[in-house]
Amino acid sequence: MAIHVDLSELQSAAVEQLIRAHVVKPQAQDVLFKVSKKVFGSCLRQRPKSAVAVSAEELKELNEFLGKSRRAVDYSVWKRIRCSNCKKMLTFYDIFCSGRKLHGDSYIKRFLGGDEYHIHVQRRGGKMEVTCAACSTVNLVVTGYDGPEY
Ligand SMILES: [Zn+2]
Repeated sequence: MAIHVDLSELQSAAVEQLIRAHVVKPQAQDVLFKVSKKVFGSCLRQRPKSAVAVSAEELKELNEFLGKSRRAVDYSVWKRIRCSNCKKMLTFYDIFCSGRKLHGDSYIKRFLGGDEYHIHVQRRGGKMEVTCAACSTVNLVVTGYDGPEY
């Protein structure tokens, strides 16, 4: 279970620094930060080139379910994970579908739905089961950003 922190009313520069510190240093727990649109945009612009966005079909379903009108890149994951079976690049959509199964629709809608901006920083070295939406294989993923320098 993640810690939920609402930073959406705080000073942008300070929030960005705090989030960066959580990404680069190993954390004991997952943190779901609620941030302002400005901070969300700024963090998104700093994403590594290797970040993975959702496909057009995945985007449509995500926006419908969550009541948003976001772009594919807004649903980026920074970690590149391929399905162990079909080699599909797993996206936020696969994680989202796995989360729906695990937590239920109302939980996901409560935390991610509506016109809010969230950044989820996962703890390092945790284990997360992500079911591939294409072939239904359950992939055991080690959590936490370990990509290029950020
Ligand atoms: Zn697959």
